Amino acid sequence: MTNSFSALRLAQDQIADLDLQLLKRKLKATQSPCDTKAVVNGRELKAFCSNDYLGLANHPDLIQAIAEGAKIYGVGSGASHLISGHSVAHEILEAKLAAFQKQHIPDARALFFSTGYLTNLTAITAFARLAPQGSISIYSAKLNHASLIDGVRLASAQSNARVSLFDHEEVNTLSELLKADQSDLKMIVTDGVFSMDGDLAPVKKLLELAEQHDALLLVDDAHGFGVLGKQGHGILEQENICSERIVYIGTLGKAAGVSGAFVCAHETLIEWLIQKGRPFIYSTATPPAIAHTLTKSLDIIEGDEGANRRAQLNQLIRIWQDEMHFSQWEKVSSCTAIQPVILGSNANALLAAKLLDEAGYWIPAIRPPTVPIGSARLRITFSANHSEADLRQLITTLKTIEQAAIQKASDE
Ligand SMILES: *Cc1c(COP(=O)(O)O)cnc(C)c1O
Repeated sequence: MTNSFSALRLAQDQIADLDLQLLKRKLKATQSPCDTKAVVNGRELKAFCSNDYLGLANHPDLIQAIAEGAKIYGVGSGASHLISGHSVAHEILEAKLAAFQKQHIPDARALFFSTGYLTNLTAITAFARLAPQGSISIYSAKLNHASLIDGVRLASAQSNARVSLFDHEEVNTLSELLKADQSDLKMIVTDGVFSMDGDLAPVKKLLELAEQHDALLLVDDAHGFGVLGKQGHGILEQENICSERIVYIGTLGKAAGVSGAFVCAHETLIEWLIQKGRPFIYSTATPPAIAHTLTKSLDIIEGDEGANRRAQLNQLIRIWQDEMHFSQWEKVSSCTAIQPVILGSNANALLAAKLLDEAGYWIPAIRPPTVPIGSARLRITFSANHSEADLRQLITTLKTIEQAAIQKASDE
């Protein structure tokens, strides 16, 4: 079949190429709310793949809150924040988000966004515009989330920012680079919890370097907010650090169970984002009903129920760490609800995901470019709604699958 126009032809070729490399991705539509069981194509699967760590995405109190929010505020915001879309519901949420970090960031103010991706693009590009063109350096952790990478690329294109990558497990090199740097503005950018590995950034050490070399420290705590720290305030609470040079980013579609994200930083830096953060300025405000729902979610996170849910999650993590020693599969040293099993090739990861599917589990294979080439994996995640029995069953199934894979390899 010959195609009449170039875009179609090129797209078909490229997609066929992805398919050959086992890199073609496929959408699956769920027929059920996000929870530990998911109905897909009429089949019920045990799901260990969402980021709904506290199990709040289908929480009855939040379902009620979103209905209540819609009754009070309607369904749409109607405009961007600086026109007429900014609601008291957003302000109430932002005040509460700032209160979560106030012991860690002096004069903290928070700004709510519709997504984490947009938040990262906004913050990185806007802060890069604080310094004269070409006099800004950005130090970005190698395994950072795609949205940070894209924010850094955009800052590099718009503001001529110099970009250096660093290995978060080896920060001495970063220290050397910072020492030699004469830029007007330096910015260190890192995931708090690395999203595909589950390990933590050395934020204490990074803050020390930021203090020594007068840099901003931007921490994207998408997988720590709600989960880390006694009250679920995130990685700054867990590590007990405080500085006005921290820019804290949290997302609200993961542990908080709803949608959206925020930046929390010194109020002057937030004021700058409102003035110059283009994706913030030129995007319709999130429906206030969502902000209303999130305020309720923060109450749960901070209260006894949140503490109980975090305790359950930590219990699951302990069981996993105790039980998975048997396995030859390469694991990452992670103390969070993200527990990857590295399988290497795309084919190995796809095979394991397929065997899990046949056993009634939903754990998709994660492949490049989401993870480095040759480190395709199963990214297993826990939710506080999983029981210990759910997890032990999964472990038994994984043992069987590993044996089958070893058998298959020795037969070949
Ligand atoms: C999920 C994620 C984001 C993006 O947040 P969304 O609200 O889903 O757009 C940003 N950073 C990290 C580290 C993430 O894992």
